[in-house]
Amino acid sequence: MRLSRFFMPILKENPKEAEIVSHRLMLRSGMVRQQSQGIYSWLPMGKRVLDKVNKIIREEQNRSGAIELLMPTLQSAELWQESGRYDAYGKEMLRIKDRQERPMLYGPTNEEMITDIFRSYVKSYKNLPLNLYHIQLKFRDEIRPRFGTMRSREFLMKDAYSFDLTKEGAEHSYRKMFAAYLRTFSRLGLRAIPMRADTGPIGGNLSHEFIILADTGESEVFCHKDFVDFDIPAENTDFDSVAGMQSIFDQWTSVYAATSEMHDEAAFNAIAEGDRLSARGIEVGHIFYFGTKYSEPMGAKVQGPDGKEHLVHMGSYGIGPTRLVPAIIEASHDENGIIWPASVAPFDSVIINMKAGDEACDAASERLYAALGNAGQDVLYDDTDDRAGTKFAAADLIGVPVQVIVGPRSIANGEVELKDRKTGARETLTVEAALNKLIG
Ligand code: ATP
Ligand code: MG
Repeated sequence: MRLSRFFMPILKENPKEAEIVSHRLMLRSGMVRQQSQGIYSWLPMGKRVLDKVNKIIREEQNRSGAIELLMPTLQSAELWQESGRYDAYGKEMLRIKDRQERPMLYGPTNEEMITDIFRSYVKSYKNLPLNLYHIQLKFRDEIRPRFGTMRSREFLMKDAYSFDLTKEGAEHSYRKMFAAYLRTFSRLGLRAIPMRADTGPIGGNLSHEFIILADTGESEVFCHKDFVDFDIPAENTDFDSVAGMQSIFDQWTSVYAATSEMHDEAAFNAIAEGDRLSARGIEVGHIFYFGTKYSEPMGAKVQGPDGKEHLVHMGSYGIGPTRLVPAIIEASHDENGIIWPASVAPFDSVIINMKAGDEACDAASERLYAALGNAGQDVLYDDTDDRAGTKFAAADLIGVPVQVIVGPRSIANGEVELKDRKTGARETLTVEAALNKLIG
C-alpha cells in the first residue's frame, strides 16, 4: 500500500476526549472515529488490525471444533419473551419497532436465537456435541460508554454456544473453549489470566473471565504470580481428549485468581507475600456453563440413547474483538506510539522514503516495495513528500514492527537502515541483505 493512496488520517494533536493511552493512540493513528456516543467507525488502519484479531479468534475456534455461522443483529422480541429475558433485561437493551409495530431489538447477545436454531433442527443426541459461533455486532446501551472501543455501545463479539446431552459432556465443551481461549490470547501477544466469575443461581465453578493485566483496567484483580509462567496449550493439542482438556484446566485453575466480585481475602492472604499479585485488569473474554437455563423454557430437547427426551446442557463463550484491540495497545506501547505484536500488526513493515523525488531513493524504495510485496508481505510504502521527521514519527505512532529507512546518504552506498519498532535496534544493510533478512 502506497501511503499517498491510502486513507490514514493521522492526528497531530492529542484528542482531549481520550482518557487512556489506547484510546488516544487509536484516534491519533486514524484507526477509529466516534460517530455518536459509544458508536465507532473502523477506519482502514483499524480495520486491518481488527481483521487480524478476528482471523486468530476464528482459527482457534475452528481448531477446537466450533463451527461458524452468522446470526443477524436485529432480533424479534418474541424469542426473548419465551426465555423471560425481554422484561428482565433492562435499559441496556435497545428496543425498536418495525413498520408493523412489531417489537424488535438490537441483540445484546444471542442465547435465545441460537437455542431457537438448535431446537428447529437438532433432534437426536447423535448430532451432539455441537458448538456454534459467530462474530457479529452487539448493542448494549451502556450507562457509561468510555475509553473508546474498550467500552462502547455497539461492539463486536465472538460468541460461541455449546450443546451437549449431559452435564459431563458440557463440562468437556467448556474446557475446550477454555483451552482455545488460552491459545487465542497468547497468539494475540497477550497473557490473559482466567479468573473465576460469579455463576449466579446456576452455581458450580464453571464461569471464568479472561483478564489482561493493565493499569487502566476497570476491574480490580488478585492472583498468584505463577500464572505468568504457565504453559499455553500447543498447536497440536487434541481437543477431543477429555483427560487432556481436564489437565490443562486443572493447571490453570490450580492457583488463586479472582476479580474483586469473587475475591476471598483469606485465600489470597494464604499465598506467600512475594507471590501475590494485586493489579487492575481488562476483561477480554468470558465463558459460562449454564446448564438448561435456556433449553428448558425454550424446549430444546434431543432424544438420548435411552430413547427418552433430554433437555440439552448449554454454555456460552464470549470474546470482544473491538475491546481486544485497545487492550493489546494498553499492553504494548511506548511514549512514541503503538508497538503491534507481529500477529496483528496492520502491516508487516513500512518503507520510509526519506526523500521522495530523489532518483536513488525512489528506485531503491520501489525495488523493496515490489520485492516484499511479491514475497507476500503486507507493506506500507511512505512515498509522500512529508519531511523525514514527520515520517519517522508517523511510523513510530502506527507501530508497524519493522521500518525500512531509505535515505539519500546511505543509498549512495547501496545501503538502507532497518529499525525494529519494539527494541529500537537499528542495522545498516545493503538492499540485498535487507531483503534477505526480511523475506528470510
Ligand atoms: P463488562 O463486565 O466489561 O461490562 P460483560 O461481562 O457484560 O462485560 P459479556 O457479556 O461477558 O460482557 O461479553 C463477552 C465479552 O464481550 C466481554 O468479555 C468483552 O470482551 C466484550 N464486551 C462486553 N461489553 C462490551 C462493551 N461494552 N464494549 C466492548 N466490548 C464488550
Ligand atoms: Mg462478562
